[in-house]
Amino acid sequence: MRYVSTRGGGEPLTFKQTIMTGLARDGGLYLPATVPDVRDRLSGWRALSYQDLAFEIIRLFADDIPDDVLRDIVARSYATFRHPEITPVVKVGPVHLLELFHGPTLAFKDVALQFLGNLFEYVLGETGGEMNIVAATSGDTGSAAIYGMRGRERIRIFVMHPHGRVSPVQERQMTTVLDDNVCNLAVEGTFDDCQNIVKDLFNDLQFRDACRLGAVNSINWARVLAQIVYYFYAAFRVQDTTGAAQVRFSVPTGNFGDIFAGYMARCMGLPIDRLVLATNENDILWRYFNTGVYSMGEVVPTLSPSMDIQVASNFERYLYDLAGRDPARLSHWMATFKETGTLTPDVAPDACFSSGRGDTEMTLKVIKAYWEACGYLLDPHTAVGVGVGLRYLQEEIPLICLATAHPAKFGQAIIQATGLDLARHPLIDALADMPTRVRVVPASKEAVAEIVRATIAEG
Ligand SMILES: *Cc1c(COP(=O)(O)O)cnc(C)c1O
Repeated sequence: MRYVSTRGGGEPLTFKQTIMTGLARDGGLYLPATVPDVRDRLSGWRALSYQDLAFEIIRLFADDIPDDVLRDIVARSYATFRHPEITPVVKVGPVHLLELFHGPTLAFKDVALQFLGNLFEYVLGETGGEMNIVAATSGDTGSAAIYGMRGRERIRIFVMHPHGRVSPVQERQMTTVLDDNVCNLAVEGTFDDCQNIVKDLFNDLQFRDACRLGAVNSINWARVLAQIVYYFYAAFRVQDTTGAAQVRFSVPTGNFGDIFAGYMARCMGLPIDRLVLATNENDILWRYFNTGVYSMGEVVPTLSPSMDIQVASNFERYLYDLAGRDPARLSHWMATFKETGTLTPDVAPDACFSSGRGDTEMTLKVIKAYWEACGYLLDPHTAVGVGVGLRYLQEEIPLICLATAHPAKFGQAIIQATGLDLARHPLIDALADMPTRVRVVPASKEAVAEIVRATIAEG
């Protein structure tokens, strides 16, 4: 398997090279040059455990990792989950919830980041040298990345979050990790500022090489890859119980990483009839899928902070397909967007996507309704996906809603919705008494670069 940049620069890379590179040197994102068609394997895969299924799917894309090594990496990555099925599916009211929050930080990003930490450690062990990870987070990526990388040899991680704009629990989940190789930075700006600093640091090729930067944001292909697995797993479980030929997914979306994994699963031949893209008030993707115009707006803080994003970094991967996999055409589109803040592709959006927008009022109503009718607490991100997904409920086609976080991460939203302090988890309760460490920095690439340089110099 070879990987190419969406912008067409450089030579194709192997899987290991791709994950160690992160963002392509021409500013593009990596994608597999061809997508494997797995339709004739689906019936054989149906009976596999999560780990065995993950091994079968990942090995198609990671063909430069020996099978025994990959099996071991997969086993260790999911041994940290607290549910034997890793990502179980439960029926709640009219929807099937795919619970993705049984990992160490109680959000779906653990599924990919536990895997990525083990991958990095394996590759660095082979090649020698070290890696300095810089990451931006709107909340959940940061803690999941920190838990994926903490204490690992040859790896340092610098995580930027927008100062005061992540939930108190999200902040404590990050800043209570005191391992020497973890540096938390509170940036005086928005998540998009943090994400831009990461992009600027990567695009400074001299700095990037000197500091051996690595990426854990969903621009890293391994993140998308690990997430493809649970679309297959969930479709199989729901087909087992319903006998349905096709399934539909509703995905609460920010950076377009999670739903892109679903799109890949569909491209590989999983019978997904529709992918419902749910946004909160930060609705650039909803506007795109309903009007064909991709145009930047202002970020508004909401109850679902991990979706408070205007520019969706993974969207370029989808646009590349839309551009007929023509890197020149895609590069032109991206340049137009960068210059004007607006892009109107001359091709219609793919019909397998539907998009809806759910505001704060809807989110609170859905949380309350599911608690009162089913005794199930949805976190606010999941509630956006459920509320929007219900608009696409159709007889004969089961609706699988991705439950992306445990409600205890967003206890304030639960209180606001139900009037009760219902969402508790021992891992979250324990955070209150733990010491923290964090540095506040201005929203400037230079300020962050200086901290990275100084930390490396300290050894
Ligand atoms: C990151 C996140 C999302 C959005 O996922 P994307 O891959 O950025 O679209 C949704 N819900 C939760 C809880 C998240 O942490």
